Amino acid sequence: MAQQTQVAVIGLGRFGVTVATTLYQMGHDVLAIDQNPSKVQDLAGQVTYAVAVDATDEANLRELGIENFEYAVVAIGANTEASIMVTVILKSMNIPVVVARANTKLHGETLDRLRVSSVVYPESDMGSKLAHDLFLPGVEQYMELTSTYGFSKIKPPMKYLNQTLKESGFSNIRDRYGISVVAIQRENEIILSPDENENLVEDDILVIAGPDDQISKVVGANEFKVDETAE
Ligand code: ATP
Repeated sequence: MAQQTQVAVIGLGRFGVTVATTLYQMGHDVLAIDQNPSKVQDLAGQVTYAVAVDATDEANLRELGIENFEYAVVAIGANTEASIMVTVILKSMNIPVVVARANTKLHGETLDRLRVSSVVYPESDMGSKLAHDLFLPGVEQYMELTSTYGFSKIKPPMKYLNQTLKESGFSNIRDRYGISVVAIQRENEIILSPDENENLVEDDILVIAGPDDQISKVVGANEFKVDETAE
């Protein structure tokens, strides 16, 4: 979505409001819809246009010209029936990109069958992120690939500073840590797929991919450093 596009966001709970206001701040044309007039009033001035209608009524959506929109986000969560009905209407209007929010696996699988562009699970995604943030301390950012595998941004263990990736055990997935170094962030520079002879220097940030337990080992190596100096 590089240039300005028209996006309809339906359902203005916390998730829908965040999506709608962020897109508007990014410069997009945002039509926000909720059946609850007070939710719509709360959003005045924060989106292009906010309207209070029942989105399960196709005539209401047609009146708003939604069939000409390129993007629609169905942000209704708890009311599964409404979420599915609205999604069916939007898909039948041939809106090119329909993204739908699901609260449960069954809800998400049903939306998938409607061939939406993508299904998002804000609650479980946040829960998973929090769990990883808590139990992988030292990891600056984590992106889950599966429940046990992810991408992380980490500070390299101190004891490896001024050593090459090879000397530190980061040269490849079969090396000491069983992870892959995808990139090194050095100030504003990104070194993609760094060579195994690249030296790690202070303030480097490593972007690594691998199983969570291996990522924990790398982060744990930082903690060991304290013990080693104490010896
Ligand atoms: P969040 O977790 O994002 O805060 P929520 O769980 O509080 O959401 P949901 O039940 O997912 O609330 O509903 C989100 C919004 O969708 C509510 O503001 C609700 O009024 C709106 N909504 C539900 N059904 C419809 C509908 N048929 N038409 C328009 N808006 C609807």
